[in-house]
Order: sequence, then C-alpha cells, then structure tokens
Amino acid sequence: MFKNYTIGFPRIGEQRELKFALEAYWSGKAPFTEVEKVAKELRIRHWEYQKKAGIDLVSVNDFSLYDNMLDTAVMLGAIPQRFRKIEDPTERYFAMARGTGDTFAMEMTKWFNTNYHYIVPELSSDDSYRLDSSKVIGDYREAVAAGYNAKINLIGPLTFLGLSKKIDRGETWELFGKIMPLYEQLMKEISMLGDEIVIQFDEPIFVTDIDPKIQPLIKIAYDTLAGVNENIKIVVATYFEHACEATAALLHTPVHALALDFVHGPKNFDNLEKIAASDKTLIVGIVDGRNIWINDITKSIDIMTQIATFIPKERLAVGTSCSLLHVPFSLRYEAQMDPEIRSWLSYAVEKLDELHLISKIFYNGSENLTDTDRAKLEANVEANLARRASTRIHDKAVLERIATLDRTERDMPFEERILLQHAALRYPPLATTTIGSFPQTPEIRKARKAYKNGTIDQEAYEAVMKAYIDDCVAFQEEIGLEVLVHGEPERNDMVEYFGEQLKGYGFSQNGWVQSYGSRCVKPPFIYGDISRPEAMTVDWITYAQSKTEKSMKGMLTGPVTILNWSFVRDDMPRSEVSRQIAVALSDEVDDLQKTGIKIIQVDEAAFKEGYPLRGENIPEYEAWAVRDFKIAVSKAKPETQIHTHMCYSEFNDIIHTIEAMDADVISIETARSGNALLKIFKKHGYKQEVGPGVYDIHSPRIPSVDEIVDQIHALLEVLPKEQLWINPDCGLKTRKWEEVRPSLSNMVEAVKIVRASL
Ligand code: GLN
Ligand code: ZN
Repeated sequence: MFKNYTIGFPRIGEQRELKFALEAYWSGKAPFTEVEKVAKELRIRHWEYQKKAGIDLVSVNDFSLYDNMLDTAVMLGAIPQRFRKIEDPTERYFAMARGTGDTFAMEMTKWFNTNYHYIVPELSSDDSYRLDSSKVIGDYREAVAAGYNAKINLIGPLTFLGLSKKIDRGETWELFGKIMPLYEQLMKEISMLGDEIVIQFDEPIFVTDIDPKIQPLIKIAYDTLAGVNENIKIVVATYFEHACEATAALLHTPVHALALDFVHGPKNFDNLEKIAASDKTLIVGIVDGRNIWINDITKSIDIMTQIATFIPKERLAVGTSCSLLHVPFSLRYEAQMDPEIRSWLSYAVEKLDELHLISKIFYNGSENLTDTDRAKLEANVEANLARRASTRIHDKAVLERIATLDRTERDMPFEERILLQHAALRYPPLATTTIGSFPQTPEIRKARKAYKNGTIDQEAYEAVMKAYIDDCVAFQEEIGLEVLVHGEPERNDMVEYFGEQLKGYGFSQNGWVQSYGSRCVKPPFIYGDISRPEAMTVDWITYAQSKTEKSMKGMLTGPVTILNWSFVRDDMPRSEVSRQIAVALSDEVDDLQKTGIKIIQVDEAAFKEGYPLRGENIPEYEAWAVRDFKIAVSKAKPETQIHTHMCYSEFNDIIHTIEAMDADVISIETARSGNALLKIFKKHGYKQEVGPGVYDIHSPRIPSVDEIVDQIHALLEVLPKEQLWINPDCGLKTRKWEEVRPSLSNMVEAVKIVRASL
C-alpha cells in the first residue's frame, strides 16, 4: 500500500501565498473567492510535489485556512455559543479564530513543544454535536479528481478531546461518548468514497504522560473506528516523543499501521518485538520533520535494516518523524546562502526526496540504484562527512570561555535588589508598560528590506528607524506610559534579529514556517559554536533613551527562546548550545547597563514550550534552562531591573522554576484566560513583580476602558498593587497603529481610574 510515508506537508505556500490571500481578504481588499482560488492552487501544488518525489500517498486535509484543530471543531459542530449568531460559515470560522468587534476569539496555544499554535476547542455538556464532513470529503474528492493517490489526515478523537477545554464543569473526556459516533459516521462516509482508503489519525497526545483514565479509551476508540468498514485502513500517527503506552494498546486493535517517531522518541525502539508479534505495519519516522539538517542516509538505512531484523520488510515503511509543517518549503529560494552550509540543509521538498531515496535503497538495495539516485546518495554521504569535519563549526575560544565561566548569577537576593531598583526608578504601583514591539508598518518593513538588498545606505535606513522610534517614544509619552520601549522597528523577528548578529548562526532568505493563522516565522539556524562579535542592541536602545526622561527598557531575547525558535545543530546537546548563547547575551546585558540603561527585559517567550513532553525529562530541562537564564543576566548590577516576558499563562506546574529564574519582573499572557490562572502566584507566595496582560493582542479588537478597569480590579483581588504591573499580554508587532493607539490609551486611562479609586 505504501513504502514511504509523509505525516503531512506545510500549507502556507512557498511564497506565503495563503498568508497574503488571507490578509487581503481580512482587510477587505479581496473577496473570499480569491482565498479559495489560492488555497486550491496550493493544495494541488503540494500534492504534485509529493507525487513527483515518489511519495506513495499524498496527504489530504492537512491543509487548513487557519488551523486543523479549529477545522476539527467545525467538523464536529463544536461552535461556541457566542459565534452561533454568525450565519455565514466562512465569517464564523474566522470569527472563531480571530474574534470580531464584540466577540472574543477562541484561545490559542502551542502545539506540543513546537512553535505552531492551534485554536483550543471549547466544549460543553449542554451542546449537541453534529458532523459536517464537507471539508474532509471535499478535499479528498479534489485530490482524487486531480489524479492523486491520497490518504486522509484527521486529528484523532483522543487528541481532540485532550487538547480541548471544557467550558462547563468536568473534563472533556466525559464527551468521549458524544463525539465518537460522529467520528464513526465520518468513517462510514469516507468508506463510501473508494475501494480502499487510508485514514491517518494524528494522536500526538499519546506521547505525553497519559492519564490512566484515558489509557482504556485508546483501545475502545480504535476498535470502534477501525471496525466501521474493512476498506478503511487506519494509521495512527504519533510524534515528538515515544508512544510506548499507546502502542501497547493499539497493537490489540484492528488498525492497519502505527507511525512512530524514531528521531525524537528513541524509546520507540523498545517496542519492536511487540510490534513484530502483531500484524501491524510500522511507519518508521526517520526523516526529521522538526529540523533542517540533511538526513544521514547511510545511517537511516542501517536503522531500517536493524528494524527489519524484527519486523518483515513488507510491514515496514519509511516515514517522516512528524508533519513537515514545522520546516520551510524548499531550498530553491536560498540562492544567497553560503553553498557549503546550504549543502548541509534539507527543507520539506528536499525531505520528500530523501524519504523516497531511503525507501528505494532499503527495498531495492543500493546496487540497483539509477545513476541519478546513486549520485544523490554519494552527495549525501559527502555532505555529512564535510559537515562533521568543517572548521566553521568548532570555535576553541567559545569552548574555553564556557569551561572557565566564573559568574553564573546576580549578586544580592531579590528582596534587597528591588529596594535599590525602586529607589533608582521611582515608578508608582500598577506601573504601565508594553512588552516591546510596536506595529510593524509597511514603511519600516520596506526600509529593512531595502537596506538588506543594498538599495538604501545605512544612513537612510537609520533615518527611517529613528523616525519610527521618535514616533513611538512621543506616543508613549503622550498617553502617559511609565516605562517605555523603543518599539523594535529594526527587528524582523525577535530571534532572527539576534541570530544574524551572532557568530555560529546561519539565516535563510525564505525559510518561513507557519506559527499561527497567517503568521509565519523564519527561524535562523545554529550550525556552529556561538559568540557575539559586537554589541547587538545598544545603539538603538541608547538612541531611544536619549529621546526621553522616562526609563527605556532594553530588549533582548533570552537563551532558551533563541534556542527554541531556531533550528539547532544536532551534533551537540541543546543544553550546551543554550549555554553558549547565554554567555553571549550576558555581555549584551552588561553593555546596556554600562551605557545607562536601567531596565532590561530578557524575553523567554518560548521557555514553556521547550518543556519536554514527558515528565521523566523535565528535571534535566529545568536545570539547564534556569541556569542559562541566570547566566544571561548574571552581570546585571543589583539596581538594574531585569524583566522577563512569557507568552502563556499556565504556571501551575512551573511556578518554582519561574521563581528560580530570579527575574525582578515578569510579564505574562493572561488576557485570554482570565485571572484564575494568576492565583498560583499568590498561592505560591511569589515575591517578584508581575505584569499579567490586561488585554489580548492576538485579536484586532480594541478593549474598552471599563473592561480594562474590571480586569485590573480582578487582578487586584489576587495580588497587591505594589506587586502588579499593567501591560498588554504580548508584543504589538502584529497589530495596526489604529488598534494600538486606542487600546493603549484605554489601558492607561483605566489605570488612572483604578489608582484614583484605591
Ligand atoms: N519583546 C517582544 C515583542 O514585544 C516579545 C514578543 C513575544 O513575546 N513573542 O515583540
Ligand atoms: Zn509574548
């Protein structure tokens, strides 16, 4: 049925076509039919890539206009009450994702330990659910009509429930009995579409520590789904870690195959004997869907061969470790990249080729390769050897400095430092600030691009940036914010900006990866030892500070976030790479304070998503992640105030760790989930200052003064005013000035009202 297998393919388009189509539609510049046209072109183009590369089955329904979890909620009729009044399904779909003038968007959160964000479905015991299979069936028909052999991707029922939230009492699992019949009905409908149909259920929830209550549901669910009709061949796909517990259960169900991640879940190797004793096909996820390094094809063949000593070849297939959604499209657009470094890389389209080549060699033997394939294999062997030996990777000075590092944390405990800081900074209770970025306007984007391409000189470029900073500062002073920021106009992205200035980093021209909805990021990649040749932010921050009497926050991205949002070399432990970054950042912190900057924010937006998926690996991660944040700020004087920012609100499990990071102020994202989550700070007796976001910046909606007043009062029920800062819940770069101006001035207004009432 298949010898090679991809879990899924990216969808935003190699030139981000879907992004631009969506944004044109959202801003009213184009009709929805334009989005549909682009979407269809992309689906066909992506199927064509898969087919051309010799992939046996193309993936259907991995495509989405916004997000697959949202699609699944819509498919099951899980439309939250507040959106039901919107009749037009397209309008309603985007309202759920993005909110409207009077309706909050649904919550969004990170997909496991990736930087992809999904929409969190809202379920309730009162709701009745109804299947709408139109998208799934429509996309499948489209693929078949266009001549492709296709399989259908679905989010499995347990992952769907596991990642949804219950808006009334109880847990989402209680709805298992309610949604399973819908999945069954879907199986029936799909079974009528052809003689034999492969359906892939994505169940990444199986790689987390499975709740013992859920374990029995695995067998029930897949007995049921695989039992609907014989012509349905079910593949259960897990990724990002091992799935040992679920594997044990699934082997006793009538599913056809398991797709396991052998790159990020080495414990999956422990199950080979068990799988061999069953009748299941094993899809060996061996081409890394999370990283951009070329596959070591010789090594992959060895692994496949080894696995084949357990499981007969006919029951094996070579697969990607997860969906290729998490890597960029194609190296074709990386013409400017250093050719040596480029030869070490592989994006989604290239990974399809690797996959095909591995499966050909594995099944047919390397002696039977065509000349072209043989050349490909030789090139792969050579590139891997060259990478291992390259002098561009190893830097003695960096290793020596790490080995002799003496300063690893700040002087003085928080309680004493904060007194010095208050004396120096003199800010009132409920001090107002923002998270760092202001709207990225077409003008600054254009100027950055022109400077990069050499069409404007440094002077012209700096003039545009400085004008923007001037405006930002003037605006912040005008509305009365207390701690100002420069607005980050010079940064295309909070990680790439630093990556471009650090030695050991490479960056792409077109390595876009979807982050959420239409938003993409272009992660840089770490190929060698990291060092900082010169100061990275000092000129901009000191310029901004020169324009105001108020405190200007220096703005850096922390080591763990830089690591998590980069593609990281796979020839050294991540913790070592992180420490190298931390040491480089510690020099930047010192340079900033030496020029008179008194507040420095070190963003750790990705600290939490870096957490291992399995509890067994958490202590090790926390130890080095905290160690490296502390190294990064270790040179800060006691009177220099260190802020950090984190893009989420669930701190229950990690509050000790957050405290151990020893930042003076932390701003967090609570706006979308209310202040219930803040209570952990009180319960824990958290001492440091906290800025819980008072409004959601992920939506274009402008919060009213009253609403923010209410929000602040709610916060004050949990924490005292002296401990609270007031800020939006994240950076404002994705918003428009028309939204940011009124939102922030409403925020400041609200603080005035609350202060007056205290
Ligand atoms: N300082 C960054 C900004 O404001 C933080 C962004 C983030 O948390 N993702 O854009
Ligand atoms: Zn954030």
